[in-house]
Amino acid sequence: MKARARALRLSSPVGAFVATIKARIFIAFFVMSLLSGGLGFYAIVAIAHVGDLVGRTYDQSLMSINYARATAADFAKMRATFARQGLTRDKAAIAKLDAQITELHTTLAEDLTIAVERAQSDRAVRAALAVQSGVAAWDDIRRSFGDLSAVRPERWDALDHQADTIDAQIDMLVNYTAGDGFTFRQAARTAVGSELRLNMAAALLAIFGSGVIAWLLHRRIRGPIVSASLAAQRIAGGHLDDSIPTDGRDELGSLLRSMAAMRDNIRAMMEREVRQRQSAERLLTDALQSSREGVVVVDATGCIAFANPMALKFFEGLGTAGNSSGETNCREALSRDGEFRLPNGRWLRVSRSATEGGGFVAVCSDISVEKEQEAKLRETNLRLDAALDNMSQGLCLYDADHRLMVVNRRYGQIYGLPANAVTPGMTAMEVLAVSSNGGHSAVPSVYPVIDELPNGKVIAIERRNTADGGFVATFEDVTERRHAEARIAFLAHHDVLTGLPNRIALEQQINASIAQTGRDQGFAIFALDLDDFRPINDTFGHAVGDELLVAVANRLSACVREIDCVARIGADEFVVVQRAVERPEDAAVLARRLIDVVKAPYVLSNQTVSVGVTIGVTVAPGDGMSCGKLLKNADVALARAKAEARGAFRYFEPDMDARLQARRALESDLRHALETKAFEVYYQPIYSLGSERICGFEALLRWKHPVRGFISPAEFIPLAEELGLIVPLGEWVLVQACTDAARWPDGLKIAVNVSAVQFTSASLVSAVRDALRSTGLPGRRLELEITESVLVANPGVTTAILHSLKGLGVRVSMDDFGTGYSSLSYLRSFPFDKIKIDQSFVRDLCEEDGTDFIVRAVISLGASLGMTTTAEGVETEAQLARLRAEGCDEVQGYLFSRPVPITEVPNVIARWNGATRAIA
Ligand code: C2E
Ligand code: MG
Ligand code: MG
Repeated sequence: MKARARALRLSSPVGAFVATIKARIFIAFFVMSLLSGGLGFYAIVAIAHVGDLVGRTYDQSLMSINYARATAADFAKMRATFARQGLTRDKAAIAKLDAQITELHTTLAEDLTIAVERAQSDRAVRAALAVQSGVAAWDDIRRSFGDLSAVRPERWDALDHQADTIDAQIDMLVNYTAGDGFTFRQAARTAVGSELRLNMAAALLAIFGSGVIAWLLHRRIRGPIVSASLAAQRIAGGHLDDSIPTDGRDELGSLLRSMAAMRDNIRAMMEREVRQRQSAERLLTDALQSSREGVVVVDATGCIAFANPMALKFFEGLGTAGNSSGETNCREALSRDGEFRLPNGRWLRVSRSATEGGGFVAVCSDISVEKEQEAKLRETNLRLDAALDNMSQGLCLYDADHRLMVVNRRYGQIYGLPANAVTPGMTAMEVLAVSSNGGHSAVPSVYPVIDELPNGKVIAIERRNTADGGFVATFEDVTERRHAEARIAFLAHHDVLTGLPNRIALEQQINASIAQTGRDQGFAIFALDLDDFRPINDTFGHAVGDELLVAVANRLSACVREIDCVARIGADEFVVVQRAVERPEDAAVLARRLIDVVKAPYVLSNQTVSVGVTIGVTVAPGDGMSCGKLLKNADVALARAKAEARGAFRYFEPDMDARLQARRALESDLRHALETKAFEVYYQPIYSLGSERICGFEALLRWKHPVRGFISPAEFIPLAEELGLIVPLGEWVLVQACTDAARWPDGLKIAVNVSAVQFTSASLVSAVRDALRSTGLPGRRLELEITESVLVANPGVTTAILHSLKGLGVRVSMDDFGTGYSSLSYLRSFPFDKIKIDQSFVRDLCEEDGTDFIVRAVISLGASLGMTTTAEGVETEAQLARLRAEGCDEVQGYLFSRPVPITEVPNVIARWNGATRAIA
């Protein structure tokens, strides 16, 4: 019950406060203050009381005595003054003395009044009043005397008697007032004595009270402090399981609770640490067991106290009885820090740490891989060094502080520096300064892109920042490249062979001329094309051809003025720009001179060669004011001149362009015709004079133009050749002709014309083979007609192709013999089966100054070479008779039949050979 009531008390805020040590000290202080305050107050009251008594002793008693005495003195003076009055007769003096007596009387009355006022006792008051009335009576007697000389002696006696009475009364008064003072003194001494005792008692009481309070405080504070101290000692002593009283509500209670909590924390901490230590120990053991490092503990005596499995593995046999080699290795390896090579070739790194007991722990790491990598790295570095030294570029690698880290040999070579002039550690500016001494043009603050040295070298410098804040600069000697670039720049505007301006430069010249063209002055453009340059090239070889072109270029350049321009724009095509042309005749003069100059013979590589030139001329501004148009006009004029008058020149005329347009139109029609197969093959019989019957047909191509009707092969074949269309077209004719001929009687041959252009195509032989195979026509029935131009272009290749064709069993004829070069060397270069005499010779056969001798010569040539001769264009019986007489083998011409469509072929055969066999 008691404890509960206490708990309730403590649970209230006031109770909780009162339970604290702070409150208790405060209460003790308060009570002790009350005690000492009360004691002090009591002492003050007592001292005041005593002081009052002392004051009254002085104020009341002594003052009262003094005034009583003053009264006595005043009365004595009154008696004396009265006595002096009796001695004088002077009235004035008598009056004066009388006044003095009255004044003294007043003073006496006043002193007496004060004495009465200060008197403490009734008897003293009564004595004072008696004095007062006595003096008044004395004075009344004195006044009653009148003339003093007349006063009787008994009256004087009465007066003296009264005076004595008064003196006695005054003495009484003095005595009474002195008695009062004594009384006060006594009272004061008594009061002091009693106060002293009371104060001592109170002080003792206060001391006792303070002792009680101190004891109470000690009881309330020391107990918990002792408990706390014991608890702390127990905790310090490691006794963490002892209980600590924690029910106190004061600060010590809270201290004990904190200590209990602290003890719990320490206990938890220690438990945790124990656990951690145990786990660490386990881990350490595991780590040692599974460690990739070998760990060996050697004690102070030098014995191996411990070696983990890896150490045992490193030092094979260590720890096994009787095996000393492992231990020897181990001891040797552990004798010092550093690297050690085991007998099995592996490398160990040993690092030793001293132990407290005087031994040491050695950790052995297997660094074989590291060593291997190191060796590889060294090798790589060597290679890198080799690569750096053999680089075509100079190289400087700088770190973030712009200090040189790597420099290769080439750098020194480029700048012509002595060995070791530039070494790692130098700053970039120092390197540049050194390089400058070695020929550098200047020390640049930043790397230039191109550095041109005084010795003419050109160095391209490139700088790239590296990831670590440094940079790498590469130096390349681009002198050669620079020259090459300059050359390329030259070549971009010039022809390599002749050094003349090329088309680009020409166009610039023409545009410049257009810009300068005035009203009075124009300029002329000459398009030049060498005549028959290609045969020269083919005959004498490209070297001679090139020489010829250079010579022509030189001659052309020599013909023109400084302000004019000669350009080469194609193989044998040149353009001359003549400036400041006032009249078209000026251009004609130059054109003629150019033709004359070019056609003069050349001596090249010990050979004399001649070449002609054809020129197309256009004059600006009349013919146009744009570069493109003027060049086109000159080309049109040239094409016209080529067609009409080789070795001459033609001015451009507007209708030339129209013809060119027509040709373009034909071109497109031809392409379209090829796509739509708008061609047809006609056949013209070849009559054998020996057997007197048709021995075969020549396939002749026909193109029926939708608008223009039949167009002569003589017109469109050259165009097809030019456009390269002759190859597919020729193949189509071949297949068509073979297909048709395969259905004819076995003895009939089919002759197919083959263009020179087809010989430049590799597919000719395979095309013929395929045509024979697909149509089933035997090779011996096919005859291919070629012209001399085929052999002129590329004799070697052509001959090879002809032999391949021959290999297929095909026969080969020389067509239009006598119109071209008619060189016997061509006839000898290949064993032709037949020579076809051109119709132009046949035509003139029966004329007055005919060409019989040529025909005769050709026929006999064929006979002697074992070749069949066929005469073309036989139109008359006379021609036939002459040819028969000359011994010609075969004839062909309108006399027998014009070329006919395939449908007509059977009729032709029937007519000349009789219907011997039916044609499918
Ligand atoms: P060519 O090979 O010399 O053919 C003979 C030419 O003479 C043919 O002209 C033919 O019609 C013509 N002709 C035949 N007999 C007489 C005659 O008695 N009097 C006259 N005045 N002419 C006669 P065509 O068909 O106009 O062919 C001309 C040239 O076109 C051919 O000359 C040949 O070189 C070429 N040609 C024709 N067809 C082809 C072909 O399929 N391929 C190739 N590459 N050229 C062909
Ligand atoms: Mg022919
Ligand atoms: Mg012919």
